[in-house]
Amino acid sequence: RQDNTADGRKENVRRSGAAGNISIKQTGKRRDIMEDCIFCKIIKGEIPSNKVFENEYVYAFRDIAPCAPVHVLVVPKKHISSAMQLTQKDDALLGKIFEAVNEVARICGVDKSGYRVVTNVGRDAGQSVLHLHFHVLGGRPFMNDMSTPNAGCEEH
Ligand code: 5GP
Ligand code: ZN
Repeated sequence: RQDNTADGRKENVRRSGAAGNISIKQTGKRRDIMEDCIFCKIIKGEIPSNKVFENEYVYAFRDIAPCAPVHVLVVPKKHISSAMQLTQKDDALLGKIFEAVNEVARICGVDKSGYRVVTNVGRDAGQSVLHLHFHVLGGRPFMNDMSTPNAGCEEH
Protein backbone atom coordinates (compact mmCIF):
# COMPACT_ATOMS: atom_id res chain seq x y z
CA ARG A 1 0.00 0.00 0.00
CA GLN A 2 1.02 3.64 -0.23
CA ASP A 3 1.38 5.91 2.78
CA ASN A 4 2.11 9.60 2.99
CA THR A 5 5.35 10.38 4.79
CA ALA A 6 5.52 13.17 7.35
CA ASP A 7 6.79 15.53 4.68
CA GLY A 8 4.20 14.52 2.11
CA ARG A 9 6.18 12.09 -0.06
CA LYS A 10 4.61 8.78 -1.03
CA GLU A 11 5.99 5.62 0.46
CA ASN A 12 5.26 2.01 -0.48
CA VAL A 13 4.81 0.24 2.80
CA ARG A 14 4.79 -3.41 3.70
CA ARG A 15 4.51 -3.86 7.42
CA SER A 16 4.89 -7.01 9.46
CA GLY A 17 4.58 -5.39 12.89
CA ALA A 18 2.79 -2.47 14.51
CA ALA A 19 6.02 -0.53 14.81
CA GLY A 20 7.06 -1.00 11.19
CA ASN A 21 10.42 -2.55 10.41
CA ILE A 22 13.31 -2.97 8.04
CA SER A 23 11.08 -4.56 5.39
CA ILE A 24 9.49 -1.19 4.66
CA LYS A 25 10.13 -0.44 0.98
CA GLN A 26 10.77 3.17 0.26
CA THR A 27 10.93 4.90 -3.08
CA GLY A 28 12.22 8.01 -4.79
CA LYS A 29 14.00 10.77 -2.94
CA ARG A 30 13.73 9.00 0.40
CA ARG A 31 15.56 5.95 -0.98
CA ASP A 32 18.38 8.21 -2.21
CA ILE A 33 18.68 9.72 1.25
CA MET A 34 18.81 6.26 2.83
CA GLU A 35 21.49 5.08 0.41
CA ASP A 36 23.70 7.97 1.51
CA CYS A 37 22.89 7.57 5.20
CA ILE A 38 25.77 6.36 7.33
CA PHE A 39 23.47 4.79 9.95
CA CYS A 40 21.43 2.94 7.29
CA LYS A 41 24.75 1.53 6.06
CA ILE A 42 25.72 0.50 9.58
CA ILE A 43 22.33 -1.20 10.07
CA LYS A 44 22.79 -3.10 6.78
CA GLY A 45 26.32 -4.12 7.83
CA GLU A 46 27.93 -2.18 4.98
CA ILE A 47 29.93 -0.18 7.53
CA PRO A 48 31.32 -2.10 10.52
CA SER A 49 30.11 -1.23 14.00
CA ASN A 50 30.48 -2.48 17.54
CA LYS A 51 26.98 -3.89 18.10
CA VAL A 52 25.50 -3.91 21.59
CA PHE A 53 21.93 -4.98 20.84
CA GLU A 54 19.64 -5.64 17.90
CA ASN A 55 16.06 -6.68 17.30
CA GLU A 56 13.52 -6.38 14.47
CA TYR A 57 13.09 -2.63 14.98
CA VAL A 58 16.26 -1.27 16.52
CA TYR A 59 20.05 -1.45 16.15
CA ALA A 60 22.35 -0.27 18.97
CA PHE A 61 26.11 0.19 18.69
CA ARG A 62 29.01 1.97 20.39
CA ASP A 63 29.62 5.57 19.37
CA ILE A 64 32.87 5.92 17.44
CA ALA A 65 33.84 8.99 19.54
CA PRO A 66 32.56 8.22 23.03
CA CYS A 67 31.75 11.07 25.43
CA ALA A 68 31.50 8.77 28.44
CA PRO A 69 32.62 5.27 29.47
CA VAL A 70 29.27 4.03 28.11
CA HIS A 71 28.18 5.79 24.92
CA VAL A 72 25.83 3.77 22.76
CA LEU A 73 23.65 4.93 19.88
CA VAL A 74 20.17 3.41 19.70
CA VAL A 75 18.84 3.73 16.17
CA PRO A 76 15.53 2.67 14.58
CA LYS A 77 16.04 0.48 11.53
CA LYS A 78 13.47 2.62 9.76
CA HIS A 79 15.09 5.76 8.33
CA ILE A 80 13.60 8.80 10.09
CA SER A 81 15.65 12.00 9.87
CA SER A 82 15.16 13.23 13.43
CA ALA A 83 12.70 13.38 16.32
CA MET A 84 11.08 16.30 14.49
CA GLN A 85 9.81 13.88 11.81
CA LEU A 86 8.13 11.53 14.28
CA THR A 87 4.36 11.25 13.92
CA GLN A 88 1.58 9.30 15.59
CA LYS A 89 2.38 6.44 13.18
CA ASP A 90 5.66 6.01 15.05
CA ASP A 91 4.15 5.65 18.54
CA ALA A 92 4.77 1.91 18.68
CA LEU A 93 8.27 2.33 17.27
CA LEU A 94 9.12 4.86 19.98
CA GLY A 95 8.08 2.34 22.60
CA LYS A 96 10.39 -0.21 20.97
CA ILE A 97 13.24 2.31 20.96
CA PHE A 98 12.91 3.00 24.68
CA GLU A 99 12.65 -0.70 25.50
CA ALA A 100 15.94 -1.06 23.61
CA VAL A 101 17.47 1.91 25.44
CA ASN A 102 16.72 0.25 28.76
CA GLU A 103 18.04 -3.09 27.53
CA VAL A 104 21.26 -1.39 26.41
CA ALA A 105 21.60 0.18 29.87
CA ARG A 106 21.28 -3.29 31.43
CA ILE A 107 23.76 -4.84 28.99
CA CYS A 108 26.27 -2.05 29.66
CA GLY A 109 25.80 -2.26 33.42
CA VAL A 110 24.53 1.29 34.00
CA ASP A 111 20.91 0.45 34.79
CA LYS A 112 21.55 0.82 38.53
CA SER A 113 23.98 3.76 38.43
CA GLY A 114 21.87 5.73 35.95
CA TYR A 115 22.25 7.03 32.43
CA ARG A 116 21.33 9.92 30.21
CA VAL A 117 19.32 9.60 26.98
CA VAL A 118 19.81 12.36 24.43
CA THR A 119 18.54 13.02 20.93
CA ASN A 120 19.77 16.04 19.00
CA VAL A 121 17.48 17.77 16.51
CA GLY A 122 18.90 20.09 13.90
CA ARG A 123 21.78 22.50 13.65
CA ASP A 124 21.77 24.27 17.00
CA ALA A 125 21.58 20.96 18.85
CA GLY A 126 24.56 19.73 16.85
CA GLN A 127 22.81 16.87 15.04
CA SER A 128 25.45 15.57 12.66
CA VAL A 129 23.80 12.36 11.36
CA LEU A 130 20.34 12.81 9.86
CA HIS A 131 18.98 9.43 10.99
CA LEU A 132 17.12 9.49 14.31
CA HIS A 133 19.31 8.20 17.12
CA PHE A 134 19.33 8.23 20.89
CA HIS A 135 22.63 8.59 22.72
CA VAL A 136 22.74 6.42 25.84
CA LEU A 137 25.43 7.89 28.09
CA GLY A 138 26.60 6.48 31.39
CA GLY A 139 29.45 5.31 33.57
CA ARG A 140 30.16 8.77 34.93
CA PRO A 141 28.12 11.53 36.57
CA PHE A 142 26.71 14.29 34.34
CA MET A 143 25.00 16.35 37.02
CA ASN A 144 24.84 20.01 36.04
CA ASP A 145 25.88 20.01 32.41
CA MET A 146 22.33 20.01 31.01
CA SER A 147 23.31 22.73 28.55
CA THR A 148 25.63 20.26 26.84
CA PRO A 149 23.81 17.01 27.49
CA ASN A 150 25.53 15.08 24.70
CA ALA A 151 28.77 16.25 25.92
CA GLY A 152 31.48 16.35 28.31
CA CYS A 153 33.33 15.22 25.18
CA GLU A 154 35.84 17.97 25.97
CA GLU A 155 36.42 16.38 29.38
CA HIS A 156 37.20 12.93 27.95
P1 5GP B 1 24.73 13.59 16.64
O1 5GP B 1 25.86 14.57 16.67
O2 5GP B 1 24.06 13.56 15.27
O3 5GP B 1 23.74 13.73 17.76
O4 5GP B 1 25.40 12.17 16.89
C1 5GP B 1 26.02 11.45 15.88
C2 5GP B 1 26.97 10.50 16.56
O5 5GP B 1 27.34 9.51 15.64
C3 5GP B 1 28.25 11.18 17.04
O6 5GP B 1 28.36 11.03 18.45
C4 5GP B 1 29.35 10.44 16.28
O7 5GP B 1 30.51 10.21 17.05
C5 5GP B 1 28.67 9.14 15.87
N1 5GP B 1 29.16 8.58 14.62
C6 5GP B 1 29.32 9.24 13.43
N2 5GP B 1 29.77 8.37 12.50
C7 5GP B 1 29.88 7.16 13.10
C8 5GP B 1 30.30 5.88 12.63
O8 5GP B 1 30.65 5.66 11.47
N3 5GP B 1 30.29 4.86 13.54
C9 5GP B 1 29.90 5.05 14.83
N4 5GP B 1 29.94 3.99 15.65
N5 5GP B 1 29.50 6.25 15.30
C10 5GP B 1 29.50 7.29 14.45
ZN1 ZN C 1 19.29 6.27 7.59
